Amino acid sequence: MLDLDFHPSGRHFLQIPGPSPVPDRILRAISLPTIDHRGPEFGALGLKVLTGIQTVFRTRHPVVIYPASGTGAWEGALVNTLSPGDHVVMYETGHFASLWAKMATRLGLSVELMEWSGEDKQLPHAGGWRRGVQAEQIEQRLRLDTQHRIKAVCVVHNETSTGVTSDIASVRRAIDAARHPALLMVDTISGLASVDYRHDEWGVDVSVAGSQKGLMLPPGISFNALSPRALEASQGARLPRAFWAWDDMLAANKNGYFPYTPNTNLLYGLAESLDMLLAEGLENVFARHQRWAAAVRAAVQAWDLPIQCADARVYSPVLTGVITPPGVDADELRRLIYERFDLSLGMGLGKVKGRMFRIGHLGDSNDLSLLATLAGCEMGLRLMGVELAASGVQAAMGYFSAHRPSSALRKVA
Ligand code: PLP
Repeated sequence: MLDLDFHPSGRHFLQIPGPSPVPDRILRAISLPTIDHRGPEFGALGLKVLTGIQTVFRTRHPVVIYPASGTGAWEGALVNTLSPGDHVVMYETGHFASLWAKMATRLGLSVELMEWSGEDKQLPHAGGWRRGVQAEQIEQRLRLDTQHRIKAVCVVHNETSTGVTSDIASVRRAIDAARHPALLMVDTISGLASVDYRHDEWGVDVSVAGSQKGLMLPPGISFNALSPRALEASQGARLPRAFWAWDDMLAANKNGYFPYTPNTNLLYGLAESLDMLLAEGLENVFARHQRWAAAVRAAVQAWDLPIQCADARVYSPVLTGVITPPGVDADELRRLIYERFDLSLGMGLGKVKGRMFRIGHLGDSNDLSLLATLAGCEMGLRLMGVELAASGVQAAMGYFSAHRPSSALRKVA
């Protein structure tokens, strides 16, 4: 075995915004013996996860489950619906939106990147990476496209690199207001099962998600939730596809089976995750993340450090990006916190590398584990010589004490 437990006691704090900490219940489910994926028991497992995940996406339409990371499901969304040279509009809210655009270009699509057009006085280098998708910009662009050359609009719901959750319903309204037939594709890899998400109601054509965030599973499975229009588009789409093809998948899924070897043990984990999430109730799950996020922001505000997301309407319930003061390298800070306190924090990606760190508040966490995380951050910041205006831990304790959780906790008779 690899020696991954470097500290003599206690548990490592994995507070990156995915992979998120995996509950013991799910780890136990995953450790069950692998079964024949073409055998008699498997079909029931397949049907259970395929229907359960529809509830989480809030869709009545099929959801495809790939044995792949989220990047695979990005590719699945594009290659099943588009043809070489098709023009797509992709809105850059951060690192992951830009990586999806890079993939689309590699696949031979004609990509038009759109970005927030304002000016950020505090952080000019990061302006567009501090805000959500501006639906009016999309509407204006689509209105100009009278020939309907634009085949798809692609946006990221929860931008994991910045901690911004875009308003997807507003993007659907923009497309409808422009009376444009473009497909709407949404990456909710780090949003699903942590933040309210409504595939059908918001008229999303392909939703892309992954296992290692709100679903609290290890990395390794990812999803495409489809709409009837996406299925129709897949009939005529000409980008080459084999592994990612929806048609073979959907045919096999009818009886709960897969066209190739699925990630059987992760599907055990998914079945357990769905049981947990649906027993708690999705509304409670979302409220839990909102509450954690509010406590973490109270801490960051007490420290008097800027939050990467500059628009309070789109603060992410999943993670908070914290900008370090000039001269304080965020990666050095993270290294110190990791070495001293056994706590992993998310790094700044792309153009914000070294200038910010990310606190994940998702997965198998609770109020006290988040307070410990904030304590690790606070001690690390002080050790780096940062003068903090006040204690963030105190502020978060105040928040938690004043706001009861909505999910039922254990009661002593
Ligand atoms: N999109 C978002 C929003 C993500 O957060 C990630 C990963 O963190 C990806 C895409 C890429 O997914 P993966 O790393 O699972 O391939």
